Amino acid sequence: FLKGKTALITGSTSGIGLACARALAGEGANVVLNGFGDATEIEAIRGELEQASGARALYSAADLTRAEAIEAMMAEAAEAFGGVDILVNNAGMQHVAPLDQFPPDRWDLIIALNLSAVFHTTRLALPGMKAKGWGRVINTASAHSLVASPNKAPYVASKHGVAGLTKAVALEAATSGVTVNCISPGYVWTPLVENQIPDTMKARGLTREQVMNDVLLAAQPTKQFVTVDQVAALALFLCRDEAASITGANLSMDGGWTAA
Ligand code: NAD
Repeated sequence: FLKGKTALITGSTSGIGLACARALAGEGANVVLNGFGDATEIEAIRGELEQASGARALYSAADLTRAEAIEAMMAEAAEAFGGVDILVNNAGMQHVAPLDQFPPDRWDLIIALNLSAVFHTTRLALPGMKAKGWGRVINTASAHSLVASPNKAPYVASKHGVAGLTKAVALEAATSGVTVNCISPGYVWTPLVENQIPDTMKARGLTREQVMNDVLLAAQPTKQFVTVDQVAALALFLCRDEAASITGANLSMDGGWTAA
């Protein structure tokens, strides 16, 4: 149902972003991939997406902590596809440390990537969406857009910022056919999470089950990880015409975390 549309997904070389890219390409959209990683692997993903969509897939290596790089990426998308219809702002990073020991340059990077990049991509995509009278902006926020955890102040601040930005832009775009929402996952099962398990087992003398339930899933009442495909399915639904009235929403997908 997305034939002829173009989706740009930031941070789509792995995890949630890659699952979103696959879901959107699966419905026939042109895709702009972005993120870091092994060039051969990224080229393989690009080829796989073109096969799945029967449309085109481009890759931009833009470092989204830099506004000029974002401008170049958006210009490239406009040149190739005449603009972006679906913008998934997903790239994000984390650093864990107490506030009084938090390296200031890490604060700047996290705010630049998790929050300011969303401002830049959105300000550049919005005029084209408004002109066409249709658009979707989908931001990957987090349960940390609603609640906090210790030692993650910049991440929590940036994700609360994304939730606020989402609401403000939704109101500005409300009459234009453009919806703006964020998805707030709890703990998502990614290779990044999986790879932490053996080390934590060793460091704390715990079993695999104990690490998963008592450490990783301590805050998640379902005791189940969210999957990247679940997040992508919600993003895809937000692109449907049936979702036209969902705007300015912060959609939790956190196994009950923020209900507690
Ligand atoms: P991931 O590490 O698998 O993917 C992050 C992506 O961002 C990668 O493609 C990476 O290359 C890219 N990236 C990193 N720095 C970048 C930069 N400077 N410029 C451009 N791209 C950059 O992570 P993920 O778990 O898929 O997370 C995706 C989003 O979901 C993030 O915003 C994250 O905060 C959010 N999130 C994740 C979880 C979780 O449990 N995994 C939970 C809630 C929210």
